[in-house]
Parts: sequence; C-alpha cells; structure tokens
Amino acid sequence: MGAARIIDGKAIAAAVRREVAAGAAALQRERGLTPGLAVVLVGENPASQVYVRSKAKATREAGMLSIEHTLPAETPEAELLALIADLNRRGDVHGILVQLPLPKHIDAGKVIEAIDPAKDVDGFHPVNVGRLASGAKALAPCTPTGCLILAKSVRAELAGLEAVVIGRSNIVGKPMAQLLLGESCTVTVAHSRTRDLPGVVRRGDLVVAAVGRPEMVRGSWIKPGAIVIDVGINRVPAADGKTRLVGDVAYAEAAEVAGAITPVPGGVGPMTIACLLKNTLDAAKAKP
Ligand code: NAD
Repeated sequence: MGAARIIDGKAIAAAVRREVAAGAAALQRERGLTPGLAVVLVGENPASQVYVRSKAKATREAGMLSIEHTLPAETPEAELLALIADLNRRGDVHGILVQLPLPKHIDAGKVIEAIDPAKDVDGFHPVNVGRLASGAKALAPCTPTGCLILAKSVRAELAGLEAVVIGRSNIVGKPMAQLLLGESCTVTVAHSRTRDLPGVVRRGDLVVAAVGRPEMVRGSWIKPGAIVIDVGINRVPAADGKTRLVGDVAYAEAAEVAGAITPVPGGVGPMTIACLLKNTLDAAKAKP
C-alpha cells in the first residue's frame, strides 16, 4: 500500500537554502555584511573531504564567504588551536566548523571549547549545549534542527505528541530530545541499553531514529499514522554487487504504517548543510 506521505528533504532543504540566500542578500544590502563560514579539516578522511567540499560549495551558492583550511593529519593540537583563535578574532568569519572526527592525538573537546560560542555553527560548544538545554537562544546542532523542520513540515504544532528519539549521541540524539522538549513534546530517549525498544517506539507519534544500524526499526514497531524521521545513513551491499544507502528504519515496511516518513537518501541528509548555512546567517545577524 505505502500509505505514508513521503517527506521530501531535498525540496525542503532547497527552500531553506533559498531563504538563507535571501537573508544573506538582505544583510549585505542593509549592513554591508557578507556572512562568512570557515571550515577546518585536519587529515585526509575521504568522507570528511566530501562533506567539506559540499559545505563550501553550498556556502558560496548562498552568497556567503567560504574559507577553507585543510591541514595535514599530523598537525599539532596547538597549531589547530592557534588557527581557531585567529578565526575567532576575524571580523569576516561568523561561523567556524571543525570537521569531525579529528586525528587521535587531538583532543576534540578542547578544540570545540576553543571556538567562540557566537561562531559555533555546529552547536557543539558547551555554552550552546547549555543554552539549548535551558531553553535560551542557542546555535543548535544542524542535523536535529533539520529533523525538526522536517517534522514540522508535516505538522506545524508538535505540542503534546509522544516523541521517541532512538540514539543519545551529542550530535543527534541528545540535542534532538532538547529541541522536541522545546516544542512541548513528551520525549523518550531510547538507546543501546533500552529494554523492549519495539514497545517504546510503538508509543511514538513522532519517531526519530539516529542509531547507525541498517533498517533496525521495523514496520511493526511503528504506531499507525506516526511521523518517522530517519537520520541513519548506512551503506550496505546491493543485489548488483555494488552498495546502496539505507536508513535506520526498514523504509518499505514503515511506509505501510506511518503517516509520514523521510526517505534515505533525500530525507534528513540534505537538511544538515541547509541548517549549517542557516546557523551561519543567524550568527552573522547576531553580530552587534
Ligand atoms: P552514534 O554512534 O554516536 O550514536 C548512536 C546511538 O545509537 C547511541 O547513542 C547508542 O546508544 C544508540 N544505539 C546503538 N545501538 C542501539 C540499539 N541496538 N538499540 C537502540 N539504540 C542503539 O551515532 P550518531 O552520530 O548519532 O549517528 C547516528 C546515525 O545517523 C548514523 O547512521 C550516522 O551516519 C547518521 N547521521 C546522519 C546525519 C545526516 O546528516 N543525515 C548526521 C549525523 C549522523
């Protein structure tokens, strides 16, 4: 049957990016300010290289300044911290993103804490984590912000819904829970030690899966009519000997039961960069 409405993350991300471009143009007109995003990559991780290139391209397409720093894998921590201090001081840089993961000899926590919280467009600095948790204005992490926009595209008012977030990472699960609490959902955070995960998921009017396990969430776990947001990006072998991407949700099964569902690819994925651009614009706007 496939009753669920398919949430078109590509189209929604494109709309966010158009809004950001319009906002950047207005800032240019009104204050002569071009929002600038600095992206720092340490090492040669191929996936990270792809992410950094697409972030830089999207930044330029939104009419913003993209500054890219690619450092060798053996860069000493002190050198990276000195670069961040420099980017913190620069007036033309409004957002700073250090691509994770970092090489093992670098303390990622220390690096994140070195970023000026006003320029922390990833929303990982403890000041922004704390602001989000206390309901203050914060730069919130990009992926869960994107998930919230997708959920609200189905239903503008989420207050009172039972929301189940699967995964408790600092990048997705925890900030997702905070954002949904901010929307007055009743939030359950499930994780690897949760008992009876299917039973917990079945309570959800809204389910966000951020686990990293291919098609773990079965259709029979989904409450009829629920909104399902699938953050997972998993590469699995395909029938033709190549590979394909699947989410954390068994899409075909879940689409039979859900009210609305994000596909993988083309769901949450495109939203992350769109929200990064949005955070950069917001950071530039907030500059006194
Ligand atoms: P992570 O590995 O940091 O966290 C995974 C979480 O899942 C953990 O909190 C763990 O407790 C939980 N978990 C593990 N096994 C479980 C189980 N059997 N039952 C219930 N919970 C379990 O991962 P992450 O960084 O949060 O990413 C999760 C997924 O989202 C990955 O597939 C990743 O590739 C994807 N991701 C996508 C985007 C995007 O832009 N779309 C961004 C970030 C992450």
